[in-house]
Parts: sequence; C-alpha cells; structure tokens
Amino acid sequence: MITIDGPAGAGKGTVARRLAARLGYRLLDTGAMYRALAWSVARAGLAPEDTPALRRHVERVHVDVEGDRVVVDGRDVTDEIRSPEIAALTSRLSMLGVVRDKLTPMQRRMAATGGVVLEGRDTGTVVCPDAEVKFYLDASLEERAHRRQLELRARGVEVDTETARADIAARDAQDSSRALAPLRRASDAIEVDTTGLSVEQVVSLLAEMVERRRREPMGCG
Ligand code: C5P
Repeated sequence: MITIDGPAGAGKGTVARRLAARLGYRLLDTGAMYRALAWSVARAGLAPEDTPALRRHVERVHVDVEGDRVVVDGRDVTDEIRSPEIAALTSRLSMLGVVRDKLTPMQRRMAATGGVVLEGRDTGTVVCPDAEVKFYLDASLEERAHRRQLELRARGVEVDTETARADIAARDAQDSSRALAPLRRASDAIEVDTTGLSVEQVVSLLAEMVERRRREPMGCG
C-alpha cells in the first residue's frame, strides 16, 4: 500500500495515477468518493446543516468506484464532480462524522488486498496507517492555484487567479482545521515539495523512493 496525501493542487491526482500505472498498481482516489457523496447531497437539494436529512441520505446513497469512474446510485458522475462548487461543498461535508464513517471503511476494504496507491487527505493517517510507503505532497499556494486554474481550463471552466487562490486557501484551512481526520502529514510520511517540478520529475522521485523502500529492511527508522 502506498498513500499520497496533501493539500488541493499539490499534484496528487496526476502523480498518483502515473505512479500507480508505473508500478502496475490500482489507484484509489478517495477525494472522488467524497466529491461523489457531495454531488448526491447537492442533487437531492439538501442543506449541509440539515443533519437528520443528511444522515438519512448518506445511509441510503450508493457510492461505487469502478476502475477510474465514480458512480452514484448507478449514475456515472466522474466528470460532474470536478466543478469548484462541488469542491467547496465537499470540503464542508467531509468534516462530518456521518460522511467519513461511510467512506473510510469502504476505502479500507478497497485497499485491503494491496497493490494500491491511495490518494487523498487522510489516507496515510487514518485510512491506511500501516501503509508501507507514505508520501505527503505540497507546493506553494501560488503554484497550486495556478495548477488548479489550468486543470479547470482544460475542462472548459474559467476562474481568475485570485478566485483560484482564495478557493484553495479556504479549502486548505477547512481541511486542516477540522476535528475528524484533518489534513496533516503522517509522522512517517515522506514530504515532497513539488513547487517547480514537472509531473514526470515527481513521479520518478516517488518511484525511486518506493524502490529504495522495497530494498531496505523496514522499521529501522
Ligand atoms: O482531492 P480532492 O480535491 O478531490 O478532494 C476534495 C475534498 O474531499 C477535499 O478538499 C477534502 O475536503 C475531502 N477529502 C477528505 N479526505 C480524503 C480525500 C478528500 O476529506 N481522504
């Protein structure tokens, strides 16, 4: 098991996908599962603060991951969940116990067979604390905002630099300060600052570290 955590725009998504392909591992994008759940809440017209209704909804809804597609109650939502609105709602909902209690056990089950790269905020701290290799990717706020802007542009969504920076900063603050499974580096995670590095450079760096970890005996600090 390999975990990759870090703030929004640190390059986790692309890097995790390429690293998994390079190693012949599966990829588990845990953020996509949180986004899918948020999408279903928006679709149902529920207010995040309506706790009883939210609880009923979360208990009923089916979130499935099929390869690299995310499916909610039989509907493929892989592309729809990438909007800035869904990102912001996801961050609000993912602080709730009822939401995390649904997805964390699913993620553990999906990772249990190994040969998997998990990507998210708490995969090395909460979902798979026993993972063999853990990474924490970060980059400057400027660069993360710029990457997010380019990513959205590729999907046909234009946001200005100031909005991208404010969205990311707000999500960072919310994800890091929440009581449950906050975004933080696991004490045994390898921190990589991706500022100024290309995706290829980061993937090579991580693959090298995985190789090195495989050769070294574990648990000797
Ligand atoms: O990584 P991504 O931007 O798709 O994640 C969307 C949101 O889902 C994050 O901002 C965070 O609030 C939540 N999330 C989480 N735990 C994870 C993965 C994502 O709380 N393991």
